[in-house]
Amino acid sequence: QDTAFRVTCRAVPQMRLVLVCFSDITREEQAGQMRRDFVANVSHELRTPLTALMGFIETLRGPARNDAAARDRFLDIMEGEAGRMNRLVGDLLSLSRVEDDERVRPRTRIDLIETLTAVLRTLAPLAQEAKVTLDADLGTPPVWMTGDADQVMQVFTNLIENAIKYGGSGGRVTLDLVRTDRDPALRAPGVRVHVIDYGPGIDAVHLPRLTERFYRADSHRSRALGGTGLGLAIVKHIVNRHRGRLHVQSEPGQGARFTVVLPTDPGPDQTAS
Ligand code: ADP
Repeated sequence: QDTAFRVTCRAVPQMRLVLVCFSDITREEQAGQMRRDFVANVSHELRTPLTALMGFIETLRGPARNDAAARDRFLDIMEGEAGRMNRLVGDLLSLSRVEDDERVRPRTRIDLIETLTAVLRTLAPLAQEAKVTLDADLGTPPVWMTGDADQVMQVFTNLIENAIKYGGSGGRVTLDLVRTDRDPALRAPGVRVHVIDYGPGIDAVHLPRLTERFYRADSHRSRALGGTGLGLAIVKHIVNRHRGRLHVQSEPGQGARFTVVLPTDPGPDQTAS
C-alpha cells in the first residue's frame, strides 16, 4: 500500500528558517479514488442498457419498421433493458440512503421472527417460479431486537433472492435462526440467521470482496439474472447500522451459507421503553 504525502513549505525570514511540513493524505487519496471508481462504474452500468435501447430504437425506425414479429421481440428486449436501469437506479438510491443512515442507530423494537415471516411470504412466488423449496426453522416468536423493520426485511430479501438466483439449482434454500445468550462475535445476547443454499457456491478468492459495490463473483451470470452488483453492499451497510456482523462460508460445488449476526433485546415487558 503506497502512502501519499502533501508537502508544504513556509519561509520564516526573521528566523532565517524554512518550515517543511509533510501531511499524510493517504486516506483522502483513497476516498477520492473510490469516488472516481464509483462514478465510472455507475456510468458504465447505465451506459450498457442505454446503448442497447438506442440501438433498438434505431432498428425499429429503420429495418424493422414493417416487421411486426421483430418489433414485438425488440420491444420485449427494450422492456428488459429499461427494467435493468430501473433496478440499478432503485439500488443506487437504497445504497445512498443506507449509507446516510449508517451512523443513526435505529430506535424501534421489532420482532425478528415476524419480519422474517413477512420476507418468506413475499418471496414464496419467486421460489415457486424457480422450483426451489424454501425451508425455514425460526423457532418460537418473538425475538426482540432494536431495528428498522424495512431495512431488516431488505437484508433477508437480498440474501434469500441471491440464494434462489445463484443457488437455486440445489432445489432448496434454508433459513435457520439460532439464538444465543452471549454471541461470541457480539459479546452480547444475539441471534444468528443463516441463509443456506445448495447450489454451485462461490470460489474462495471472491469471498472477501463480495460486499464491495459492483463486485460480482460471476459477472456473466449476475447480469443474465438481472443483478445490479449492489445487493450485498446494501446488506453490509444495514447490518453495520444494526451493530451486527455478516459472514459468508462457501466452497465451490458445496453451496453457500450467509450468516447475519444481530444483537437482540430483552422483551418489551422487561425494559423501560
Ligand atoms: P448481484 O446484483 O450481482 O446479485 P450482489 O451484491 O447481491 O449482486 O452479489 C454479489 C455477487 O455475489 C453476485 O454477483 C454473485 O456472483 C455472488 N453471490 C451472491 N450470493 C450468492 C450465492 N448464494 N451463491 C453464489 N454466488 C452468490
